[in-house]
Amino acid sequence: MTDLPKALRAVLAERSEVADPEVAEVRRAPDGTTKFALALGDGSVVEAVVIPMEGRTTLCLSSQAGCAVGCVFCVTGALGAGRNLTGGEIFGQYRVLVRTQALLGAPLNVVFMGMGEPLLNIPGIARAIELLAETVSPRRVTVSTSGIVPAIARLGELPRRPNLAVSLNATTQEQRARLMPLAARWDLADLLEAMRRYPLERGRRITIEYVMLAGINDSDEDARRLPRLLRGIPVKVNLIPFNPDPEFLPGLSTPDDARIDAFAASLAAANLNVTVRWSKGLEVSGACGQLRGRVPARPPARA
Ligand code: SAH
Ligand code: SF4
Repeated sequence: MTDLPKALRAVLAERSEVADPEVAEVRRAPDGTTKFALALGDGSVVEAVVIPMEGRTTLCLSSQAGCAVGCVFCVTGALGAGRNLTGGEIFGQYRVLVRTQALLGAPLNVVFMGMGEPLLNIPGIARAIELLAETVSPRRVTVSTSGIVPAIARLGELPRRPNLAVSLNATTQEQRARLMPLAARWDLADLLEAMRRYPLERGRRITIEYVMLAGINDSDEDARRLPRLLRGIPVKVNLIPFNPDPEFLPGLSTPDDARIDAFAASLAAANLNVTVRWSKGLEVSGACGQLRGRVPARPPARA
C-alpha cells in the first residue's frame, strides 16, 4: 500500500496483519456438509463446517483452538484447552467459508458450535458478531454454551445480542459434574436461573442441547426430570444422538433409535418443543463433538 505514508506503513506492519485463515483441508460428506480445517497465523488449526439446509445454509464456527471444559463425550474436550481466537480470526472463518462456497448473498445462519467454549471468549465472539452484523443479523447468530453462568448475563448485555443455546446434557447436578467437569462448577439451579433472565425477543426460545448417551442420561427418570427443570423457560429441545469416536471417546455409546424416540415422545407429552437432531456430516467427522483441529507439520504461510 505504497500510497500510505511510509511512517504509517511501518506502524501497520508492526502492529497488524491482513490474513485469512489458510485452508489446510476440505472434506465433503455425501449430504453436502463440508468440513474445513483452517490454519491460523500461529499454526493452530481450527475447524469450521458448512451445513446446507433447506433454503438456508448454516455455518458452524470455532471460538477457541481447543476446549478447557473437558466434556467426556466431546473430542475437542478430550484434546484439551487451546487459546482464544481473536474476533478477526473468527470472522476470518466466515470469510473463507463464504468465499470458497460461493455463499455471498445467500441466506445464512451462523452458529458458534465448533471448537471451544464461546463464553470463555466473550471479547472474541462479541467482535466477530459485530463484524458479521454487516451481512448476518444477530437474530441469525446462535451462541452455544456449556453453561458458563456469569458469562450468560454478559452475552445478554451485548449491543448485538445473539440467540442462546445451552448444552444441558444432564438432568441432575451430579450427572452434569461427571459429564461436563468445568461447566459443573456452576450449579444447575444457577444455570437455569441465568437462562430465565436471558433477554429474549418476542417469540424466541432458548435452544437446549442434550447429547444422548446410552445408559448415562437417557433413562425414563431423565425424561421425567427434564421438563420439570425447564418449566417456565421458553425453550426448544434438541436431542443429539451421541456421535461416537472409539479412539478419543472410548466406552460411550449411542442409545438405540427406539430409546431416543421414546425419550423424545416423553418430552413432547410433557409439552416440550423437541426435535431429534440426527447429525449431519458424520462421514467426515464434521458432526457435533467431532472437531479436533490439529497442529500441522509445516507452519502456514503468512499473507
Ligand atoms: N462448547 C459449546 C459449543 C460447541 S459444542 C457447547 O458445548 O455448547 C456443540 C454441541 O455439540 C454441544 O451441544 C455439545 O453438547 C455437542 N456435542 C459434543 N460432543 C458431542 C458428541 N460426541 N456427539 C454429539 N454431540 C456432541
Ligand atoms: Fe468444550 Fe463444548 Fe466440547 Fe464441552 S462440548 S468440551 S464445552 S466444545
